Amino acid sequence: MFEVVIGLEVHTQLNTKTKIFCSCPTSFGEKPNTNVCPVCLGLPGALPVLNKEAVKKSIAFGTAINATINKRSIFNRKNYFYPDLPKAYQISQFEIPIVEKGEVYIDLKDGSTKKIGVTRAHLEEDAGKNVHEANFSGVDLNRAGTPLLEIVSEPDLRSSDEAVSYLKKIHAILRYLNISDANMQEGSFRCDANVSIRPKGDTKLYTRVEIKNLNSFRFIQKAIDYEVERQSEAWTDGVYDKEVVQETRLFNIESGETRSMRNKEDSAEYRYFPDPDLLPVIIDDKMMEECVKIPELPDEKKARYIKEFNIKPYDAGVITNSVELAKYFEEMIEFGAGAKNSVNWLSVELLGRLEGGVGIENSPVKADKLAALVKRIEDGTISGKAAKEILDFLMQNDEDVDSAIERLGLKQVSDDSAIAVIIDEVLSENQDKVEQIKAGKDKLFGFFVGQAIKKSKGAANPAKVNELLKAKLGV
Ligand code: ADP
Ligand code: MG
Ligand code: ZN
Repeated sequence: MFEVVIGLEVHTQLNTKTKIFCSCPTSFGEKPNTNVCPVCLGLPGALPVLNKEAVKKSIAFGTAINATINKRSIFNRKNYFYPDLPKAYQISQFEIPIVEKGEVYIDLKDGSTKKIGVTRAHLEEDAGKNVHEANFSGVDLNRAGTPLLEIVSEPDLRSSDEAVSYLKKIHAILRYLNISDANMQEGSFRCDANVSIRPKGDTKLYTRVEIKNLNSFRFIQKAIDYEVERQSEAWTDGVYDKEVVQETRLFNIESGETRSMRNKEDSAEYRYFPDPDLLPVIIDDKMMEECVKIPELPDEKKARYIKEFNIKPYDAGVITNSVELAKYFEEMIEFGAGAKNSVNWLSVELLGRLEGGVGIENSPVKADKLAALVKRIEDGTISGKAAKEILDFLMQNDEDVDSAIERLGLKQVSDDSAIAVIIDEVLSENQDKVEQIKAGKDKLFGFFVGQAIKKSKGAANPAKVNELLKAKLGV
């Protein structure tokens, strides 16, 4: 009965070495107020100088999402008062952002793709951080002046699933371009979700609420789902106009609810005006040329994997979603492992064994080793089941694959004569069933295979067992 309408604002810190308007380092986790200078402290008379790298990284992003890059953009002052903003204004972009009208493609559950419009992406400075201790509060300005790219989507998203797919795609693009760490735990990738509902079929936009500062994919999903539920109930109960007002809400992690924080400011309240301390940003042809050379992006990589390695679109999507996973996969292929097995052993077996929070880049088993393991399955040395046991062992022990196979005694028996001996034993122990299968009871074949493998303690190569059994029984 209702349609969900969502538009997202992503704030991502660009990974420049220094801040956007001064030469202070952007390093995370330093002692409070050590990465500061007169500019980012907002001392009177200090003048900002734009960091060219931040501009270049924004152009790369705009190029990647097929957007318009404005050759001339300007910086504005966005006025508001908050303790973590020492100048009492934030330098941002307003009427002319550096990037406009882009597009991002997301995968839907039914396998199709959907285009999501990106309204704009503009450069701005991050604020500091208020720190609340037991009996006092402080302000840490190390983060003040860190370059942010704010990426604003069109209200094109229709469910929390679509919102999460969109965010994951933006996240992947930033990481592929190496323009942001996009580390959600450290707050370098944050999202505000604008959520409204409307009767199905209606095209106008209804009142939206903005849920602030969501920093995990799971919370974003929960916050949106809660908000949609709240608005739908208000509508059904006839109290929509009273309960759903344009406002900023906060998501409470413990209760899973959103709470009203404040009424939403209109942009007029920020009294934007061009910053007189900064010249317009002019992007010349030379700079454009330097920035438009971008690496293979997630969508292209996915298409190439499907075509080149003949893997399922879903799997290709999972692997290309992360630049590190894609790199790991490509290394496995280079080391000679087959594509399909590599996908499975990487995305199911290895990822499943990494403890929560450990990224593939910190896996104790590197691509060369996992590839070696896969190759031993492929050449029949070990069974898939044994390989799982070996991988468990390798996660804990730094040993090469072949010696681990020896140590654990998991070499698969493919040797015809050894298997033939086992089969003969099984047949002589089950004379009655041999008669039955010869008399046409084909179903018994599986029984013999099972018995032979069991007798070998799982070491016999099943393909070989099948082959030899068929020959012996003449079936
Ligand atoms: P502000 O900075 O005031 O939040 P912006 O225009 O920068 O305004 O961002 C608005 C965001 O809200 C965009 O992502 C837009 O797609 C989204 N949005 C606007 N109207 C609605 C609506 N009715 N329902 C859901 N999202 C909306
Ligand atoms: Mg907003
Ligand atoms: Zn500074």
